[in-house]
Amino acid sequence: MASSHAVVIGGGIVGAACAHALAREGMAVTLLESAFVGGGTTAAGMGHLVVMDDSEEQLALTALSLQLWEELADALPGACEWDPCGTLWLAEDVQQLEAVRRKQELYARAGVSTEILDSAALLEAEPMLRPGLAGALLVPGDRILYPPGAARFFAEEAQRSGALFREGVAVREIRAGEVVLANGERVRGDLVVNAAGAAAPALMPGLPIVPRKGHLAITDRYPGFCRHQLVELGYLTSAHVMSSESVAFNVQPRRTGQLLIGSSRELVGWDGRTNRAVLGAMLRRAVDFLPRLSELAVTRVWTGFRPATADKLPLIGPWEEVPGLWIAAGHEGLGITTAPATARILADLILDRTPPIDPRPYLPGRVQAQAASPYEATP
Ligand SMILES: Cc1cc2nc3c(=O)[nH]c(=O)nc-3n(C[C@H](O)[C@H](O)[C@H](O)COP(=O)(O)OP(=O)(O)OC[C@H]3O[C@@H](n4cnc5c(N)ncnc54)[C@H](O)[C@@H]3O)c2cc1C
Repeated sequence: MASSHAVVIGGGIVGAACAHALAREGMAVTLLESAFVGGGTTAAGMGHLVVMDDSEEQLALTALSLQLWEELADALPGACEWDPCGTLWLAEDVQQLEAVRRKQELYARAGVSTEILDSAALLEAEPMLRPGLAGALLVPGDRILYPPGAARFFAEEAQRSGALFREGVAVREIRAGEVVLANGERVRGDLVVNAAGAAAPALMPGLPIVPRKGHLAITDRYPGFCRHQLVELGYLTSAHVMSSESVAFNVQPRRTGQLLIGSSRELVGWDGRTNRAVLGAMLRRAVDFLPRLSELAVTRVWTGFRPATADKLPLIGPWEEVPGLWIAAGHEGLGITTAPATARILADLILDRTPPIDPRPYLPGRVQAQAASPYEATP
């Protein structure tokens, strides 16, 4: 397998990380990107590298990925804006503080260290928060980076290992052993990896990944306004429930001094227009936690589409019906975090090695029966 040629479709952070992992193993890799590397949802994301515990499987994947990011940290160029700021999960009342304690136990079982802050310690850590919050869980190992910079880093590292990346090249069709580009050109590959994010189903009709829209707002520069990524404890509920609309408080201090304000979730297909009602609710939620945020200037608002699966886990592994076809897609709101772990699992499976965590929960086989297969081997 190490001497095989892999074609990776999609130069978002997931495809770029996969191209990097495969090229480092000595495989010939071609990365095909319809626009530019680090665009797509990757350009719309927040860049919070976060251990998340919506399920045991999500916890295992995110914890592994944080370790892999840490191993890469020294190699990341300045453009990645690496920031070891940690996360504070905010508890509004005593019930939520109980939930913080349960969260701490879960994290401890996954080997992730945390610390519980009481109300006073929280205000000392983040004086701009509204007084009276019950406390928080500090996860010091969480990180922040600039996602487009990180995607480009992976693509350039892949290139250094011999990979070819082609931008402005759209794949029109996947066949067994090759892909067909929009201009009719055929690119052969012993294996093909569909890493086209929320657009992955366009190449594999029936693949159960849907775009889940999110808004972000960014402020002008206010260095020191807050120091950690701040997330309300209810964020997980907002991310978990596949309701048509939800918002949760999630604010990130960028190295530039800007504040990124999130987050929202909507199921409205590919409608990328700003939804004023949702944006308003998101900003009000943010001001509720950080009252002085209302005095700051928001300079830009945008939307992006998380590639969502029904069980909130990505699809990583072979698509059994088509020889040589692999998937690395469906990372919803955690693709920046989990790109390195995804790439590691994919490479290990391709090379018939044992991944560091059980890969079975992420295998595409779990959704395969739901998807129609319009593919046939190339004559
Ligand atoms: C508002 C918001 C906030 C987020 N915040 C975070 C966060 O803080 N932390 C985190 O971990 N995650 C976050 N995410 C999620 C994260 O951004 C995504 O999970 C991740 O970017 C998905 O990466 P990807 O490479 O799978 O997809 P993409 O980045 O979309 O990349 C897919 C690429 O494939 C290309 N492509 C598509 N079709 C074709 C084709 N036919 N041929 C060739 N190329 C094609 C596209 O142009 C695109 O560049 C957030 C997402 C949103 C929307």
